[in-house]
Amino acid sequence: MAPLSEICVIGGGMSGLATALAMAKYLSSRDEPVNVTVYELRDEPTTPGGAVNLMPNALRNLDKLGVYSHLKQNKCGVEIDRIELFSNYSGPDQLASMDFVDKDGNPLGSFRGLRVMRSDLMEAMLNAISASTYANVTLNILYGKKLVRIEEPASNPKEGDKGVKVSFEDGTTIEADLVLGCDGIHSKTRMNHVEPERVPVYTGISTAQGYVDRKAVPSDLHFKGTCLNMSRRGSLLATFYEPTHESIYMASVMEAKETLSRDGWKTKGADQDAVREDILDRFGDSAFPCVREMISASNSWFLFPVYKLPPGGKWCTERVMLLGDAAHAMPPQGESIGIAIEDAILFTRTLAKYRSFPLSKAFKVYKELRRDRIHEQYQEASRRWETVRDCGYLVNKLKEAIMPWWIWWSNESRVKTFMSDAESVIIP
Ligand SMILES: Cc1cc2nc3c(=O)[nH]c(=O)nc-3n(C[C@H](O)[C@H](O)[C@H](O)COP(=O)(O)OP(=O)(O)OC[C@H]3O[C@@H](n4cnc5c(N)ncnc54)[C@H](O)[C@@H]3O)c2cc1C
Repeated sequence: MAPLSEICVIGGGMSGLATALAMAKYLSSRDEPVNVTVYELRDEPTTPGGAVNLMPNALRNLDKLGVYSHLKQNKCGVEIDRIELFSNYSGPDQLASMDFVDKDGNPLGSFRGLRVMRSDLMEAMLNAISASTYANVTLNILYGKKLVRIEEPASNPKEGDKGVKVSFEDGTTIEADLVLGCDGIHSKTRMNHVEPERVPVYTGISTAQGYVDRKAVPSDLHFKGTCLNMSRRGSLLATFYEPTHESIYMASVMEAKETLSRDGWKTKGADQDAVREDILDRFGDSAFPCVREMISASNSWFLFPVYKLPPGGKWCTERVMLLGDAAHAMPPQGESIGIAIEDAILFTRTLAKYRSFPLSKAFKVYKELRRDRIHEQYQEASRRWETVRDCGYLVNKLKEAIMPWWIWWSNESRVKTFMSDAESVIIP
């Protein structure tokens, strides 16, 4: 491989930060020093969105990258033993549950699930970057850097030539030996360079995310940590997300034909009332009084249209690789952050293993390792996403009847995923 001294990571979200941490850990044994710089378009570390679910495998991989200890130290989020699934109409018993613990209540492979604010996760990742002390790898993050163009020579660069030229909106340019596009579903790395034809498509389903003060809900809650209430017009997630349990986070996942903004928008004033009314209309006839109370007392609704990428596609050129949502954004099923972290670890381990070969070798091995797994997860996420579409009484009854069987049938493969560890995957 030509010397790999400058690595440019576009995007400082979950995938970009995980990639920087993985580079520090797995490239540190190299003789030559490596500079890894993350270029993020936002002016400071911020991330939109509310509380995210991290599966046991996501936590295990975050632990390998030194992030989990920072989440623990800052007492972030709440541990979740299971996601409880209910019919909105026929309480009080659960239809089924997706468990992160075994039948004796022990965590699967030492990690439960964690529901945590996305901003807390980002802070823990940044703390891990600050604390990183691996030899030979320097990590930098630059904010206010919006990628606009990538220029890559058609063939291998000449001696002394870095290979890829990256231009930012502020007029600056840099050169790098390797560029990693970690810039999310609407990735400029992909759309301006790797595969302009593969554009995100709206799934026809949006989320509305809001919060409610626990004290504003007089009735008993029917769930312990996190629940999903299935109705004929979508699903309503309700969950605790901070250790005091003073606030509940809700996300309504619902069919919505039109979308006004690609990036989501915070509702204000009359809009806020209209969104609350719409969600009440969808879930307010619940068998659980607390559902109506939670929605009625809720505030700060944030609407987010959900896009996905067409499956498959091109992930790389000669010196540019896409990771995370930029490569394979799928409908969110509480697993995609874990998948992005897995990408970061597996790609970097492959790069480390094939460091004395041309870059194309590491790219090829990584793609062969990852394609089938990503395809499987994409298909599964898309299937589950479709189940929230509006349906009639009979179809809903059928869905409720099938749900426990589906949870039972898919348990083995879920447990296998929860127990997985990107550090012990054999790189061929
Ligand atoms: C409504 C919703 C709920 C979700 N809930 C969950 C959940 O509970 N659990 C879970 O695991 N996953 C969840 N996901 C999926 C998860 O959010 C994504 O898979 C994950 O954020 C992907 O990380 P990423 O770093 O690849 O992309 P992103 O998080 O999108 O980060 C991309 C980064 O690149 C930056 N960037 C973009 N363009 C440029 C540019 N031109 N130049 C420089 N920087 C740029 C952005 O500012 C951003 O910081 C959810 C997704 C949605 C839509």
